[in-house]
Amino acid sequence: MTQLTGTPIIDERVDDSAVWLARRAGVPPVWARYTDLVVERGIGSWVETIDGERYLDYTCGIGVTNTGHAHPRVAAAIAEQAGKIIHAQQNILYHKPGLELHERLPRTFPGLPVGEAGLFLSNSGAEAIEASVKLAKYATRRPAIIAFRGGFHGRTHGAMALTSSGVKYRGHFEPLLGGIHFAPYPYVLRNPTGRSEDEAVAFSLAGIEDLFATVVYPDDVAAFLVEPILGEGGYVVPPDSFLPALRELADRHGILLIADEVQSGMGRTGRMWATEWTDARPDIVVMAKGIASGMPLSGIMASRELLDRLGPGAHGGTYGGNAVACAAAVATLDVIESEDLLANATRQGERLLAGIRAVTDGRQTVAEVRGRGLMIGIEFAEGADLAPRPDLAKALLHEAFERKLLLLTCGTYGQVVRVIPPLVTTDEEVDTAARVVGESLAAIGA
Ligand code: PLP
Repeated sequence: MTQLTGTPIIDERVDDSAVWLARRAGVPPVWARYTDLVVERGIGSWVETIDGERYLDYTCGIGVTNTGHAHPRVAAAIAEQAGKIIHAQQNILYHKPGLELHERLPRTFPGLPVGEAGLFLSNSGAEAIEASVKLAKYATRRPAIIAFRGGFHGRTHGAMALTSSGVKYRGHFEPLLGGIHFAPYPYVLRNPTGRSEDEAVAFSLAGIEDLFATVVYPDDVAAFLVEPILGEGGYVVPPDSFLPALRELADRHGILLIADEVQSGMGRTGRMWATEWTDARPDIVVMAKGIASGMPLSGIMASRELLDRLGPGAHGGTYGGNAVACAAAVATLDVIESEDLLANATRQGERLLAGIRAVTDGRQTVAEVRGRGLMIGIEFAEGADLAPRPDLAKALLHEAFERKLLLLTCGTYGQVVRVIPPLVTTDEEVDTAARVVGESLAAIGA
């Protein structure tokens, strides 16, 4: 039997990675690869390959599978909804999971009373970023955006222009969307004016004032776009005074504050949104990744007063608010609430941070172990000038992989190992991961 393309169908019962990997030629190299695992299933914090090997997955599909792989409640909600209707297009029909989600998710908006926030749904993080920037420009009638160095906001044409975590995301794609300016992110470890929190925040704010003095009038700026914790840029936790200071500056100039919570949100840091670690209330929250446990769904939340300014047709999309994705998102909220996952993320995050600090303590090339909740980074650097050591980050990933632990890198130079467990992870798994990190560091002699 042959497929339409003439390619022989491989017998699905052949559970042999080599056989399946022989078919990978059509997967383009633009998908830079971390592993060659061919996966059969995922269960909680674990993935199982078609050869029956189990790996502790502390990549979480890049911070997506917050409720663990294939949580039974999420999987059941998906199956049930798929059996009823898959695509009930937003302009044409309402559906129950969508209506429920539009009611429940905005209740989590930081600092707004229930009923005052609204939700617009799309499919990916980058798409939600586009929506947030369009809303800010439309509502303020201002043309410019100030984003932060090291920020990552996605790969669509607009989102990559807002991204500065690495040249590979925007290089050779010029000309990019205009009206975007960058200020320094408060990165205490690498702050050029001194390694205190106050100095790092002051340096960032001075960078914004410098933009106002040299390249853009504040009343031309529609929004500050900021990650409450840098994700792709290196898992950098800014001082708690940063977001309130930005809020204050935004209020002074009538600028909106957009919090890109695509990676830091949905409980990852132990609070529903990472901005909740501070008193600063964003005007727009951008979310994706964890909101539907792996179904493609994203969105923005804002006060209804702001969101409703986008008139009919000013934004939209064929798939936004897909019924199956919304059912997964409703089940995700149920799981987060019923299993008290915010408390688990806080507890396990502290345990993991302490465990990793214990095994990295005294190692000269580990410049910093930092994080909040289950968003933890290990930065490798050397010498007084902190020369990045991406080779060590890569070697650590390799050794951890050999020990059946999956991790990712991040940071402009790839010098940071990021550890992203699901929020359902257990004491035992956390201890295993910390032990493997220690063994791997010993193996590479870092
Ligand atoms: N914003 C942040 C903070 C992200 O981490 C990402 C993806 O990693 C995005 C936006 C883009 O999301 P997506 O890849 O779903 O377009």
